[in-house]
Amino acid sequence: MAESARESMEYDVVIVGAGPAGLSAAIRLKQLDPELSVVVLEKGSEVGAHILSGAVLDPAGLDRLLPDWRERGAPVTVPVTDDRFYMLGQAGVLRIPGWPMPPLMKNHGNYIVSMAN
Ligand SMILES: Cc1cc2nc3c(=O)[nH]c(=O)nc-3n(C[C@H](O)[C@H](O)[C@H](O)COP(=O)(O)OP(=O)(O)OC[C@H]3O[C@@H](n4cnc5c(N)ncnc54)[C@H](O)[C@@H]3O)c2cc1C
Repeated sequence: MAESARESMEYDVVIVGAGPAGLSAAIRLKQLDPELSVVVLEKGSEVGAHILSGAVLDPAGLDRLLPDWRERGAPVTVPVTDDRFYMLGQAGVLRIPGWPMPPLMKNHGNYIVSMAN
């Protein structure tokens, strides 16, 4: 190993994993104290490379962390307009009405996103 590669790098905070949790923690720490040195280590080739999920996103967390996320051009642009529930079976498809669904299953105000983005 080259001598320079063995030199240690000092940070105040090291966060492992650039998923939503790690990135949120890093952003929040820098908001609280811009002088902190924070590093995020990600094993993927780039942020999001190991996150395959499409997702329905409740923007409540983003609203609190980055209230101006809309003006910043966040890739959160497709609002949910309709919820439909189906039971799929060998005999065919049965549509289930939405009204008995718990609040968790109601997605108005949420967005369809690529979690990796
Ligand atoms: C199929 C599926 C569907 C989902 N649908 C939704 C949805 O519709 N809506 C919703 O809100 N949530 C959804 N989720 C949940 C959401 O994806 C997770 O809650 C969220 O990704 C968790 O974030 P996290 O930062 O804790 O972990 P992760 O997103 O898993 O991020 C962890 C990161 O750490 C990296 N990492 C791991 N180990 C190391 C290491 N040793 N060194 C360096 N880096 C490392 C990984 O590469 C990854 O980038 C879904 C999840 C799945 C699997």
